Formats: sequence, C-alpha cells, structure tokens
Amino acid sequence: VQANLPLPMLLEAVRTAVQSPKKGLSVVYWMRMGDLRISDNRALAQASAQAAKDGVPLIVLFVISPQDYLAHDRSKRRIDFTLRNLILMKASLDLLNIPLYTVSHTPRCTLPGRVISLLQSFSCTRLFANFEYELDELRRDREVCRLANELGIKPMFVHDRCIIEPGVVTTKEGKPYTVYSPFQRSWISILNANVPRFIEEAPPPSANPHSVRDNPIFGPLFSTAVPLIVEGFQLGEEDQTTMLSLWPEGTQAAKDILSRFLHTKSRAIQLGAADPLALGAEHSEKRSRINAYNDSRDRGDRDTTSRLSPYLSAGVISVRGCVRATMRLLGTQKVNAGRDSGVGRWVQELAWRDFYSNVLVYFPRVSMGRPFQEKMANIKWEVDEAHLSAWKEGRTGVPIVDAAMRQVNTMGWMHNRMRMIVAMFLCKDLMLDWRLGERYFMEQLIDGDLASNNGGWQWSASTGVDPAPYFRLFNPYTQSAKADPTGDYIRCFVPELKSLRGPEIHNPSAKVADKLGYPRPIVEHAAVRERALRRYKNPGQE
Ligand code: FAD
Repeated sequence: VQANLPLPMLLEAVRTAVQSPKKGLSVVYWMRMGDLRISDNRALAQASAQAAKDGVPLIVLFVISPQDYLAHDRSKRRIDFTLRNLILMKASLDLLNIPLYTVSHTPRCTLPGRVISLLQSFSCTRLFANFEYELDELRRDREVCRLANELGIKPMFVHDRCIIEPGVVTTKEGKPYTVYSPFQRSWISILNANVPRFIEEAPPPSANPHSVRDNPIFGPLFSTAVPLIVEGFQLGEEDQTTMLSLWPEGTQAAKDILSRFLHTKSRAIQLGAADPLALGAEHSEKRSRINAYNDSRDRGDRDTTSRLSPYLSAGVISVRGCVRATMRLLGTQKVNAGRDSGVGRWVQELAWRDFYSNVLVYFPRVSMGRPFQEKMANIKWEVDEAHLSAWKEGRTGVPIVDAAMRQVNTMGWMHNRMRMIVAMFLCKDLMLDWRLGERYFMEQLIDGDLASNNGGWQWSASTGVDPAPYFRLFNPYTQSAKADPTGDYIRCFVPELKSLRGPEIHNPSAKVADKLGYPRPIVEHAAVRERALRRYKNPGQE
C-alpha cells in the first residue's frame, strides 16, 4: 500500500501529532455526515471517555458545509435526511447535557482553520472524529491535523464506517484486493479471528454535568447553533412528505427497519400506495425476509431486501450493530458470510460496502472521474441529450428501465438489481458516459454514497475493479422477466402499462404501446448491443 496515499498520510499525521496536550477546558467530537448516531459510535464513545477522564464537558460539533455537499453531488434528499437526523439527535444529546453545536461554513478550503479556531474558542485540546474516506475529506483532515499540531491540540481519528477498516484486508503481499471474492474470503476469516475487535459495541456517551448549561462558554452553545437548514437544499413539499413517510429519521426507525427485515416475511408490491414496497399483500413465502434473501433478493416486485442503505450511508445505524443482529438471530459467536444461507448472503452484501471503501482509499482516482481500468479511459461515448433525458425521466420505452428510473425519482431509492439494469442500459445500450449516470444517481438517491455508487457504476460500465465483463451485456427484457416475474414492479411505477398482463408487460408491441400512450423503445437492443461490443473491444474506436 503506497505511503503517499491520503489515508496513510493522515494516519502518519495523527501518529506524529502532539501526544500529551495540556489539559483543556473541553473535549470536542466532530460529527460528520456519515456518523449520525449517538449509540455505538466509536469517536463519540472515545471523546466521551476522554471528557470524563479529564473532568471537562463534551461538545458535539457539526459543520454544515454546502460546498462539500455540492462537490459530491449530494442529493437534496440526503441533505434533508441529515438535517432531520440532526434535529432528533440534538434532542437526545440535550437530555445528556451535551450541546450539539452546528455551524455553517464556506468556502470549504478554509474549513480546517475554522474548526481549529472553534476548538481554541472552547479551550479544547482534544478533538475526536470518525474517518471519512473520500479523497477531499482525507486531505481536509490532514490539514486539520497539521494546524492542530501547531497549536498543541491532539486530534484523534477513529475507524467507524466499515466493519473492517480499509487497509486491513490485503493480499499476502500487503496489496489491496481488486477482486471481490478473494477479498471477501479474507475479510470473513480476519473478522472471525477478531470478532470482539471488529464487532464490539462502542459504549454510549455519558452525560455532561448539569452545570455545563450555566457555563459562560459552553452554556450558550445549546442555543446559538445555526438553524438546521441549508440554503438551496430545501425539498419540495410533496417530496418532503414522501421522504418523511418512506425514510423516517432516527436510529430507532432504522432498528425497526432492521427488525422488519430479520423477522417478517416480504410483501408484494402495492400499486398506488405512498410506500409501494411495504404495504402489499403477504405472499406464500414462509421464511422471513433475511432467510429468503439468498433466493429472492433480486426480485423487484417484492419488498425483499433490508432497505437499510439510507441509514447505513448516513451512519444512522451502526453496521457493526447489523452484524451483531445476524449473530443473535443465528445464536452464534461467529459471523456467517456463507453463500448458501440468506443471512450469510446478506452479510456478504455488507462486505461489498467495505470492499468499495477500500477501493476508494487505495485507488482515489476512481473518485476523480477516472475509470479503474485505465485502458477503458478512451471508450467512445455518444453525446445525446434527448436519450439522457429519456433515461432520467423514465421514458426510454423499455418498461423495466422506466419503472426503475421512476422509482428513484419518486422514492430516492432503487432496488439493487434495477440499479444494475439501468446503469448497464445507460452505458451499453445508449452508450452514454457512465459518469453522467453516476452523477444523476447521487443527485436523486437518499442513500447516495460515493464509494458504493462509484463502485456500482464502474462495475456496470465494465471499467471498475472486478467489473462485469464487457461482453456479458444485460438484455433488459430478459432481466425484466427475471427481476419482475409478476410484472407488478412495472405496473406500480409505469401506470400507463397497468392494464397489461403476462409477458407482454416486459416488451409491449408498438401497437399496444401507442394505444396506451407509452413511448416506443428509443433504441433497439440487438442493434446497439453490437455497437457496445465493438467500442468496448477497441476503446478509442467507433
Ligand atoms: P440490502 O440488499 O439489504 O443490503 C444491505 C446493505 O449492504 C445495503 O444497505 C448496503 O449498505 C450494502 N450493499 C448491498 N449491496 C451493495 C453493493 N453492491 N455495493 C455496496 N454496498 C452494498 N449503495 C449505496 O448505499 N449507495 C449508493 O449510492 C449506491 N449506488 C449504487 C449504484 C449502482 C449503479 C449499483 C449497481 C449499486 C449501488 N449501490 C449503492 C449498492 C446497492 O444497490 C444498494 O446498497 C442497495 O440496493 C440498497 O438496498 P438495501 O439496503 O435494501 O440493500
């Protein structure tokens, strides 16, 4: 692993930082967009322990940084979800006499200096935060370390986002894995050899003494925080209502969703409901969602997956807590990531999340618009605004693609198999640059996560680590029949087609499409397939 990568450089900066600072008057935990919870939060737990040891108050700081959100194409929905969670957390922290102090800051390049001057104004000599693995964030934190060091403040960065932090699961030669299967095998053996280290729950923070509220420096922090709104990131009224009902904020809501996944059976999709995935009739499946996951996870016409991604991306629920819940369910001391059980398969999906975080850390070029496979950098893409708009709006005339795009446009979330289908369709059938799709997803998704989104897009575009081989193009119609055998998924999101029954729903004839006011396909799959194969085989050529 190269030493000049941002994560090793930040670790080095932390290692050489001031070791025994003079005792300050407070300890600060800097909460970030990806760790929005109080329980089982490592940096918060360590900050709290330090504050108790030093006998000083703990302050939680959150910096609202609109330019950071723009830089990562964060959706309004994700920002709104962040703010809703912060409001809830503020109330919980209040009960512990811990101020949640929010500040808004631009420009992003001066953020490290702003944070350090805030620490100085709190006479704080110890700062705790969980790592963020995005390139800009690692650079920002390195600068924070540098400034902190100059002023005798000790920064402490903690791994919390992944089950096994980046850099631990490596090949025998100490290199990062670029293929998932060997990564996953190594991941599970390291995990099971060190269950307490990776899975143990971090203790909850202890309360500050009540006197903090009367303190002239810290007392005002309870009330002087900036209001939790972000200029330019407000949701429309209708979208807000939908997001509130689909994705309620808070760790308890996330735990309820996890419990639904662990203990209840999946349901059929419900046409016309506010939450089409949750309210449908129970079908004949006898097993709980997680136990049936291995067989049914690719079904878009049933509510088969956990739908925890918004909560995991924002850190509203601890990923360690999710693994512990599977261990409790099985009554074992070991983590099961076997291929043949629903539980094992689900844990493997959580490992994908770790895998893509590793890729982001050790190959940061992927987040700079570069393909992982450099040889694919010259693929010739089409420039076609009409096709891009049709894809975005769900008007391609290919029902499964349109249903999926309308799902993300309305729900801010899309089923995994559908993400693969629409991504493959954009890059291979429309031959449009995958970066356009990656960006649009980030703008729409409530679970938008740079590492997983980039990983998913580069997989689909056959440009990433361990990608889909370019010659194994998805046929959207066969994919549709597999992922939506009842047709309910299409009927739910494409109401023009709701009268259709049987296989016709996957590929209606021109006559039927015209009659129902549904567009004809904007490309013919068989013809454009050849174009994709040609261009992928010889990047740079027509
Ligand atoms: P479940 O099937 O219940 O899985 C549990 C959890 O495992 C998920 O919540 C997620 O945290 C993780 N996970 C599952 N599959 C993957 C995967 N392939 N890669 C990484 N983590 C995974 N996931 C995001 O969280 N944010 C994104 O921005 C995102 N963009 C994607 C873009 C594309 C093109 C593709 C193909 C996939 C993308 N994914 C993304 C991964 C995956 O589609 C979602 O995590 C999943 O659909 C979320 O639904 P769920 O919570 O019900 O998943």
